[in-house]
Amino acid sequence: MKFGIRQRIIYSFLLLTTASLSFLGLYLLGFFYEQNLDSKTTHLVTNAKIVETALEDTIVMSERKNTLEEEIKKISGRTNLRITILDAGGNVVTDTWGDAESLDNHADRDEIREIPQQDYATAIRYSATTRQNMLYAAVPVYHAGKLTAIVRTATTLTPIETAYQQTRAFILSAILFTMCLTLLIGIWLTRLYTKPIAAMTTAARKIAGGAWDTRIHIRTNDELGMLAHTINQLTANLEEKLTQIDAEAKKLALILENMDNAVLLLDSYGNVSTANLTAKEMFHLTPDLLGKHSISVIGNSILTETAQEVLSARQSKSINLKLKLNHAQKTFQIFFAPIINHEGVTTGVLSVFHDISVLQEVYDRQVEFVANASHELATPLTAIRGFSETLLDGALENADLRKKFVEIIYTESKRMSRLIHDLLQLAKLDTKEYRKQVKLEQIDISEVFEAVQAKLTPQLAEKDLQWRTSLPDEKNYVQANYDWLVQVMVNLVENAIKYTPPQGKISVSCRKTSEKIFISVKDSGSGIAPQDLPFIFDRFYRADRARARSAGGSGIGLSLVRFIIEMFGGEITAESQLGLGTTFTFYLPVK
Ligand code: ADP
Repeated sequence: MKFGIRQRIIYSFLLLTTASLSFLGLYLLGFFYEQNLDSKTTHLVTNAKIVETALEDTIVMSERKNTLEEEIKKISGRTNLRITILDAGGNVVTDTWGDAESLDNHADRDEIREIPQQDYATAIRYSATTRQNMLYAAVPVYHAGKLTAIVRTATTLTPIETAYQQTRAFILSAILFTMCLTLLIGIWLTRLYTKPIAAMTTAARKIAGGAWDTRIHIRTNDELGMLAHTINQLTANLEEKLTQIDAEAKKLALILENMDNAVLLLDSYGNVSTANLTAKEMFHLTPDLLGKHSISVIGNSILTETAQEVLSARQSKSINLKLKLNHAQKTFQIFFAPIINHEGVTTGVLSVFHDISVLQEVYDRQVEFVANASHELATPLTAIRGFSETLLDGALENADLRKKFVEIIYTESKRMSRLIHDLLQLAKLDTKEYRKQVKLEQIDISEVFEAVQAKLTPQLAEKDLQWRTSLPDEKNYVQANYDWLVQVMVNLVENAIKYTPPQGKISVSCRKTSEKIFISVKDSGSGIAPQDLPFIFDRFYRADRARARSAGGSGIGLSLVRFIIEMFGGEITAESQLGLGTTFTFYLPVK
């Protein structure tokens, strides 16, 4: 059975008062009873001695029995005591409350038995004669140094017993009354003191339940007041701390939600426990997939395997992973970190997905570019080396072969230097610093057309190609760099010359809208197959390898053209029909 603080206080009060009062009562009861008994005994002994002294002669002389009887009756009547005279053998000579003849020998009575050894003797006994508890006192009567008789006085104990019972009843009722009073005072006092405790308990329960704004309103200067004040302070501090933690958590959640990187939290079994918005969108995570194994989320077991490694090693780790998402190949660098709680136990793994697809593509392109460039350089170099070796091996002697081989060596070296020139230009344009240096100015398109024509007239004439320019009447200015714009036009027209058979037509034209100037280079050449058209602006791409190679192409020209046009803020497109010709059109901003 559980006792509350109130019951405990009340029961303690009750126990204390009842025990102390009972102890005191018992002591007083005993004390007063003994006191009464003592005085009664003294009274009896004194009276017995008085009777013995006063009536000694009468007692001794047996012939004066009647006088003795009269005397002791008189004394008995006055003192209200029972007086008995016994002979030395314990036989009753006379008794004031009874008939001596009917009384048996009293030698075995306690007070009589002890007389020969003592000055007096007493006893308490139930008297069959008086039917009461009686107190007896006996004194010896000596004559000529010999015990000749015994005087015994007796009185009823009823008054003492009545007094004892009355006192006991009084003490009991006093105890009962005090108990009731203690109970009432206890209830009042405990209510007074436990009320604030109950209020504090209720408030503490509310606080524990999350109602942090709860305060205890106890304005006393005692310990309870102090406690309430301290709890209030504690709650205020906790509320402040929790608000801070809450704000921090919200901030972190916000960062996590709005992060560009996908974040997945894996538990120790490899199940996805939490995912941020990017992860949900990226992996099409529906709520029912949360809590599922990472394989069902990203379709790859490497995540779980790495998470297990991180968990056992308790060290972060990064891996690269290629995934197909939304039909696109993506490369991720995934960072794994173990989540260790305050007890030092690893509870899960945090995985952050960095989309490095662009970087990977750049890297792949670089590798591809180096391989392509090396290949493009290796081809003419092999030819030069081969033909020079043949010449050295004796072909120098043969005049026809010598000329032919040297011509090949010359062409191949020209191709090489062109390629290196193109590559250098590309490298130059690739640097941000250089692009910033390139000065943009107002350029008259007709001047560019003239410069290109002047530069390429020998090549046009060589193939007997028809050249036509078409320009609006007024001057047309574009925002560009003269040298690079000429380079664009030269590349496009050179291509047109390269891929157009003799007697073909090449035309350059210009058309204007309010914001843009469109420039086209059209030829009546071999054209480009539709499957090649999307790739012709890629580096090292050649539509018809054999033809392009024989034409001296390296596959860089168009990529350079697109690069330059985009640098000026324009765009280039190509249209072509196999066998009929190709048209390249690009626009440049007017301002
Ligand atoms: P190349 O140096 O090989 O000409 P380009 O980058 O200038 O390299 O051109 C890429 C490819 O596009 C060429 O190899 C060729 O197949 C095709 N091409 C470019 N211009 C024309 C054109 N006017 N007519 C037909 N094909 C062309």
